[in-house]
Amino acid sequence: MIIKNVRILGGEAVDIRVEDGRIAEIGPGLEGAETIDGGGAIALPGLVDLHTHLREPGREDAETVQTGTQSAARGGYTAVHAMANTSPVADTAGVVEQVWRLGREFGHCDVQPVGAVTVGLEGRQLAELGAMADSAARVRVFSDDGKCVDDAVLMRRALEYVKAFDGVVAQHAQEPRLTTGAQMNEGVISGRLGLSGWPAVAEEAIIARDCLLAAHVGSRLHVCHVSTAGSVEILRWAKSKGWNVTAEVTPHHLLLTDDLVEESPVGAYNPIYKVNPPLRTRADVEALRAALADGTIDVVATDHAPHPVEDKETEWSAAAMGMVGLETALSVVQEAMVDTGLLDWAGVAERMSLTPARIGRLPGHGQPLQVGSPANITLYDPSVRTKVDPSAFASKSRNTPYEGMELPGRVVATFLRGTPTVLEGKLV
Ligand SMILES: [Zn+2]
Repeated sequence: MIIKNVRILGGEAVDIRVEDGRIAEIGPGLEGAETIDGGGAIALPGLVDLHTHLREPGREDAETVQTGTQSAARGGYTAVHAMANTSPVADTAGVVEQVWRLGREFGHCDVQPVGAVTVGLEGRQLAELGAMADSAARVRVFSDDGKCVDDAVLMRRALEYVKAFDGVVAQHAQEPRLTTGAQMNEGVISGRLGLSGWPAVAEEAIIARDCLLAAHVGSRLHVCHVSTAGSVEILRWAKSKGWNVTAEVTPHHLLLTDDLVEESPVGAYNPIYKVNPPLRTRADVEALRAALADGTIDVVATDHAPHPVEDKETEWSAAAMGMVGLETALSVVQEAMVDTGLLDWAGVAERMSLTPARIGRLPGHGQPLQVGSPANITLYDPSVRTKVDPSAFASKSRNTPYEGMELPGRVVATFLRGTPTVLEGKLV
């Protein structure tokens, strides 16, 4: 098969020959029996998400492995890491293998299960990290995401333990006592609205502690969804020491701010903007963008968090936290980072494919588009602008903060080991 007329990382137009799931040849004027017209789209290595909530097993009313990976493919992803806060929790070899098998059977992209750090996400005793690492699911990323591993001794033990198999602990940095009942970013607006504040220090204190712990035991730490300017400063300091610390930022924290809770196209107190960690200030957004551009923050991860309507369309304090994000991620990154001149397409490929695959130790993904690489390819047209229409999402859930907002770009096609999962913007 030949994919005609694509621009690798935005470069000159070329054709790509795919054979046996790999890139066999790149150049102008390639001929073959089966061709797909890329229409001059930008070709990126298939995107890799380090932070996806697929909700199966347990909350199949919100998302399933099938619909979540359809959503991922529509967003240009060829692999996702499925978070462990399912029901049952993915804290044993049995459950991570179940998710891995669901991915093999129903996945429209590869599904790499994340294992829980503690049994039942309860923060009391370590889960069977070694058994999950040795299982068919070959787990390398461990996280209690949704909850913070706040016990310093447990966090230290987890960091020590994962060294044996080159794993990483991905921390949801939220000091629980400082955020009891917290509803939105602590600041001027939370004060005006009378909603309990979620202080930046609750995130920053845990990140600082965990950087120190990771350095102390010589292990690898990954920080989930960094949301404050102060967190960026701590990460910059930890990296300057040469410590093995990586971090992610979500698309929504690169674009949206906490004033939307007070005033927005969908009114005040609209829980569509309720998310963990909360939307922060314009100054935080600017710091996060600069950090992603200069490499202090390594990757963009979606934190795709599907919720059914009844959990989201309720009063603010009762609403679930989280937003779907897989199908809008690349567009939001274009809006926040590319169209602002902060990143080029090579930089996007690094932060949304190469580096996430490296952090997750995911073989076969995140490789540059060159001869010999697996043909995991995303074709993207940055020139169009469209209004976000949640009813067109492949995800089972619709809780997007971008409804009705005009965003740039469109995923034209996604190829998983040479097989199209999306063509002309539609699932194959
Ligand atoms: Zn989280």
